[in-house]
Amino acid sequence: MADAKKQPQKITGVAQVGPETAKGGAANKATLPSLNTLTLPYTLPSQGVPYGGAIPGGNVVLSPMRGEQEEALAGTGTGPHTARTVRHVIKGLVNLNGFPFEKLLLSDFVALVLNVMAFSYDPNVSVSVSCPECKKRNQYDTEVGKIPCDVLTEEKFKDASTYQVELPVSKVVIAFRPLTLEDTDAIEKFAQRHQPEADAKGSRPELTFGIAKAITHVNGKTVEEFGGLVPLRHWLREMTGRDLAALRKAMNDAESGYDLSPEIECVHCGHTFEVRLPEAGEFFRGKTAAPRSS
Ligand SMILES: [Zn+2]
Repeated sequence: MADAKKQPQKITGVAQVGPETAKGGAANKATLPSLNTLTLPYTLPSQGVPYGGAIPGGNVVLSPMRGEQEEALAGTGTGPHTARTVRHVIKGLVNLNGFPFEKLLLSDFVALVLNVMAFSYDPNVSVSVSCPECKKRNQYDTEVGKIPCDVLTEEKFKDASTYQVELPVSKVVIAFRPLTLEDTDAIEKFAQRHQPEADAKGSRPELTFGIAKAITHVNGKTVEEFGGLVPLRHWLREMTGRDLAALRKAMNDAESGYDLSPEIECVHCGHTFEVRLPEAGEFFRGKTAAPRSS
């Protein structure tokens, strides 16, 4: 991503602690030095294509994390609560020029998390994983700017085949769209509603719901024509694994943004396997625990 290499620009306008803001006779107290901060122009992997001109070129401006944001994230670990906190923090650090944050593609949001972190602390991402073949440890070190990232173009977005797949077993043609943050909220709400059922069975009913949420057409007819998400989800529950796998793969392939499961080769046995890069919560935790200035 060429844009990740843009130089930070010095921007003024950060609130300063001035003598007039303190109470009574503060004029003769010393003023804390002003904290100049930098902002970074950044281009979203979607290049703004799905937003109908609301974010021209996908160009946004990032601000770095400060003590305030570290406080907000200090108590977080993993799970939905962390996801909400991370989103709230990122929302406060990105200028979208009035575009509603919840309408962002999930893939653009993930890109924002990675780049705010890289900009605030350092670009390094480090993961220790065991090889599934020889079980020995591998240390995977990379930088945010080196993680494979697919950029969306106008041509790709308008090409019907980008978001369409014919399933191998049923031969059904499914059209879909990329998920937004709003969609992930709906999926999370669905998961919460089905929590008792899931706990009792150890199942995850939101899996099929998440796929249903992305589907727009089945054999050319809209999801609404079939009665909406409920019948669609039940239909997906009847679908064979091979069709579901093909559908999931088509959805993944169409996704713009970072590939957070890059393949690596085991240094011990040469076996190739996928590494899961840390999710937002863990990523922040690692960084804020021992921040380095760069
Ligand atoms: Zn190995």
